[in-house]
Amino acid sequence: MKTDTIASIATAVSDSGIGIIRVSGEEAISIVHKIYQNKKKEYVLQSYASHTIHYGFMIEEDGSIIDEVMVSVMKAPRSYTMEDTVEINCHGGALMMKKILMAVTKAGARIAEPGEFTKRAFLNGRIDLSEAEAVMDIIHAKNEFALKSSVKQLRGSVFDKIKELRDKILYEIAFIESALDDPEHINLDGYADRLSEQVISIVKELEKLLSSADDGRMLKEGIRTVIVGKPNAGKSSLLNLLVGEERAIVTDIAGTTRDTLEETVNLGDVTLNVIDTAGIRNTEDTVEKIGVERAKKISEDADLILYVIDSSVPLDENDENIVRLIQGRKTIILFNKSDLKEVVTKKDVDILLSDTFESEKKENIFMIRISAKENDGMDSLMDLIKDMFFHGQIGFNDEVYITNARHKEAVLEALESMRQVQVSLENNMPEDFYSIDLMSAYASLGRIIGEEVEDDLVNEIFSKFCMGK
Ligand code: GDP
Repeated sequence: MKTDTIASIATAVSDSGIGIIRVSGEEAISIVHKIYQNKKKEYVLQSYASHTIHYGFMIEEDGSIIDEVMVSVMKAPRSYTMEDTVEINCHGGALMMKKILMAVTKAGARIAEPGEFTKRAFLNGRIDLSEAEAVMDIIHAKNEFALKSSVKQLRGSVFDKIKELRDKILYEIAFIESALDDPEHINLDGYADRLSEQVISIVKELEKLLSSADDGRMLKEGIRTVIVGKPNAGKSSLLNLLVGEERAIVTDIAGTTRDTLEETVNLGDVTLNVIDTAGIRNTEDTVEKIGVERAKKISEDADLILYVIDSSVPLDENDENIVRLIQGRKTIILFNKSDLKEVVTKKDVDILLSDTFESEKKENIFMIRISAKENDGMDSLMDLIKDMFFHGQIGFNDEVYITNARHKEAVLEALESMRQVQVSLENNMPEDFYSIDLMSAYASLGRIIGEEVEDDLVNEIFSKFCMGK
């Protein structure tokens, strides 16, 4: 385990009131001691008690003052990293923070890698891997749900659930192993039935966790939403309305692998990632020409399709094409331009839907009248989206949500292993068959909390953190 001392700027490197330089490691206190003076120009940092904060100055080698600071001292193991930690609160300019960081490195610290403080907290056993990942999720949280579920995860909700399941599995493994070791004293008669019951209950819990993952992903990252419709239906107006409502927190996600732009629309509890197809429309005239194929491809990935109809003009063959595209997908048909005379009724669309596909495919399709121009019907639209995805209520209850793709994969693997145990039980296989699959389920779940993980994976996870965390 590395015990060298690391340092980093922990706050945003921009003009701000206060900036924090964080130093952690065996020599954190003695290093900052060399460059810190109190009001009386004394070098006394080493004499300070843990968890105290002190006014003073950062000093250059030649004795000149770099900045006026507040320095806090946290001694191991009562710190974030469980190592000696010093935090230097200085003025928040980017240049000032860099100067102080330079002084700290000159005095003997090394610049920390992204996430290295949290990695140390994990390696030193203060938090498990799921809690470490929650730290990153808190930093990146885009909406209320994401924030709340990450805070819960940081407080150990995922860890507790996984531990509970692992303990149950371990109990069975231990029982089988000891019975096989000591057949005279431990009898396996009737055990298969008992195990079978336990396996069914664990499978159920894993399935529940897994099904929380899609909700979790949508809540955390946003509902992938595509707006489709004929030219002039009002798609751009709708997008502008959605985006405009919350312009301050709208961001374009750059660098995603998609070739289309995503607009993030934050609507309180719910985030929509709206895939902007407006650009496609500008080059071509009809839906036919924009390539239904392309729209189809985008729609296939979507959680939600918003199909905008100009209700003031009759339906035509382009609508037939679009309707084919929404078959079997969660869709809201928006009868836009409700401020104008209604030409297209819900009944017309119903007939079109029935002509195009079987009725059982219609259950995911909802209709609503709006006016993008008059900003009418938006509240109903939002309520409808919450209803469709989260049964009207966002999960702030006690349920544990899996919001991390890595965790989802591990749960899936564990589930497969547990199902294999069920197969072995059905086929009356010998007991050691059960324990092999129980072991692999145990190991898969262990990866979520950071047991039995490779160094490479740990490095990869922490490299995604920001600097200073
Ligand atoms: P797009 O081609 O589907 O993106 O459609 P636009 O958003 O560009 O809108 C086409 C035209 O319809 C524009 O002139 C809009 O001002 C107009 N429009 C959009 N929504 C409404 C609405 O609710 N009522 C009325 N009366 N006009 C609308």
